[in-house]
Amino acid sequence: MLVICPTPIGNLDDVTPRQREALTSADIIACEDTRRAGKLLELLGIARSDGRPKLWRYDDHTARDRADEIADAVENGNTVVLTSDAGTPTISDPGYRLVRACRQRDLEVTALPGPAAAVVALSGSGLATDRFYFEGFLPTSPERRRHRLEELDRLHTTIVTYESPRRIIKALDDVIEVCGPAREVCIGRELTKLHEEFVVGSAERVRQKLEEQAPVRGEIVLCIAGRPDTDKDDGWEQADRAIVLLHDQGVRRRTIKDFVDEMFDIPRSQIYDRIDQLVD
Ligand code: SAM
Repeated sequence: MLVICPTPIGNLDDVTPRQREALTSADIIACEDTRRAGKLLELLGIARSDGRPKLWRYDDHTARDRADEIADAVENGNTVVLTSDAGTPTISDPGYRLVRACRQRDLEVTALPGPAAAVVALSGSGLATDRFYFEGFLPTSPERRRHRLEELDRLHTTIVTYESPRRIIKALDDVIEVCGPAREVCIGRELTKLHEEFVVGSAERVRQKLEEQAPVRGEIVLCIAGRPDTDKDDGWEQADRAIVLLHDQGVRRRTIKDFVDEMFDIPRSQIYDRIDQLVD
């Protein structure tokens, strides 16, 4: 059997009893980095005195060649547990080829639930979650990143991306250019770790806040609100964006209320409550 086994994205206490059991009873653990996997087993108190579980390297460089070899091991009756360095294997991580190889041979595959940075960030973002699009890593070249953002900007769903701390400010510059400064975004940084931080607000404001912390450090998920769906807009969607943008620019509450009242077809009596809900 192949068992897909997520591992913590920063907090060892996130290991579930089922993950621990899978790691303990594995014949082989297919992992990105054998030293790192060995360290995790050590921290969890899983002894490897008789050489079991064996640790087999399975990463981006070896995935193509090793998938069949590992599938052979599954076919020969071994329990193979697939892990990655952190989070859920196959999600912006190697694993897909191995799962596919096992599926093609009709071997038993099971997937354990566990942390995935994208879902942790999205669930804490406050952005719409009824539908979302997972992009993985945005291109690193500025030109290709902008072009990709232009394509993504057609979506009305929240977009979830992984980004490096070195590029996050430049990525936000591109979001501001392509989607506008008022587009709501959420940065989930160092999730589940000691210095976990969510930074939410307009792209402009979040960029400003990150610049105040420069150099930005740690692991980052960037969630971007989808393009407003004007067909479904009950009038508040655009007004909400104006409220957030004006507030971020330091405009007074009373002026925001007058502006929103003038510009949008929404009940005047609810505007102050709405401002209070959206901004501190
Ligand atoms: N498979 C992993 C998962 O399920 O979360 C993702 C692997 S991907 C190679 C690594 C990226 O995930 C990081 O560069 C970062 O963008 C994001 N990430 C991983 N751990 C994170 C954390 N604790 N906080 C924020 N982002 C994290």
